[in-house]
Amino acid sequence: MKRKSGQDPEITKSWKPATLAVRGGTARSEYGETSEALFLTSGYCYDRAEDAAARFAGEQVGMTYSRLQNPTVEMLEQRIALLEGAEACRATATGMAAMTAALLCQLSAGDHVVAAKAAFGSCRWLVDTLLPKFGIETTTIDGRDNAAWEAALRPNTKVFFFETPANPTMDVVDIAAVCVIAKAHGVTTVVDNAFASPALQRPMAFGADVVAYSATKMMDGQGRVLAGAICGTREWIDGVLLPFHRNTGPTLSAFNAWVVLKGLETLDLRIRRQSDNALKVARFLETRLPKVLYPGLESHPQHGLAMQQMEAAGPIFSLYVGGGRAEAHGLLNALQLVDISNNIGDSRSLMTHPASTTHYGMAEEARLEVGITEDMLRLNVGLEDPDDVIADFDQALRAIGR
Ligand SMILES: *Cc1c(COP(=O)(O)O)cnc(C)c1O
Repeated sequence: MKRKSGQDPEITKSWKPATLAVRGGTARSEYGETSEALFLTSGYCYDRAEDAAARFAGEQVGMTYSRLQNPTVEMLEQRIALLEGAEACRATATGMAAMTAALLCQLSAGDHVVAAKAAFGSCRWLVDTLLPKFGIETTTIDGRDNAAWEAALRPNTKVFFFETPANPTMDVVDIAAVCVIAKAHGVTTVVDNAFASPALQRPMAFGADVVAYSATKMMDGQGRVLAGAICGTREWIDGVLLPFHRNTGPTLSAFNAWVVLKGLETLDLRIRRQSDNALKVARFLETRLPKVLYPGLESHPQHGLAMQQMEAAGPIFSLYVGGGRAEAHGLLNALQLVDISNNIGDSRSLMTHPASTTHYGMAEEARLEVGITEDMLRLNVGLEDPDDVIADFDQALRAIGR
């Protein structure tokens, strides 16, 4: 029985991403199960009191408590690290737990963070509200402008934080250029890679230090569980993140880790098919709407850069219907197949109105500054036949008189 080949670096080093997605990180129990085992346990027992003492002292390998270690969660962490090309990974309960931990574990009062303005609503809240509350200064900039990153540097700048493509404006950040600036000034870059997933974009290959995920999105991919992950060097994960993670406890449940392990097996297939479908739907919508922002379209202002960093443009894009909220809500309400839902990365096509949902908490001025207007909608294209999705848009656009 190949018991732990997925955890043996000598064996996994030659495996390609599709193989890693199915087998990376797998460790079999004494029963030799083919699918990963689900260890729903909060604690662990010891043969002797001395063994318990030795494990707590770090002198004996083994698990002590599921906030700290769990075999199912460890399989997921190893699989994500292998897919990312990272030395180590720590899983979290949600994507926001990952973002919060990745920032707070390394920041102290008096430090400074530079972040891209175009970001997921809760990520903006971390930067605009949470960090300043603890005496951490923050500056938000246009992440597309490499010179703006350099100009925002201060002697106490510790972290650059951005996502690319950004939610929901589809701004693309030049990962390599921004990482060069960061490295030259001893700044740690934290990249939120939820939109692309490691199947389409590996920020560490462009110089990023830390990559954080909402695994709720493409990694689960079927809209079932919330999960997150943080990847970095072994030294950073063990030395900087782990003390914060172990003691504050944003730990992922074993059940959710198991669901995401199953999701990763098909990540590559799903994201490539969804990217193809998204491109077809975007090309159709471009003929019927004033503006479609999808990095996979030649009309996207950063199409070239996006295609240098990404293997495909992913399932998500934004569209502008013209007019205001009434027109945007009208199109949403007229759809018969595409659901009104604010989730993304699902195998179903889902659409939302960011200004009144995901970015409702952001000040109107800040929304408009990054292009989240009242007529903007964000679409996640699923695994349905793209012709059916196009037909649904066609009938909905006719229904609202377009
Ligand atoms: C969804 C999302 C998050 C938050 O993830 P949760 O799993 O919902 O906590 C963070 N960043 C981006 C870009 C996202 O799309």
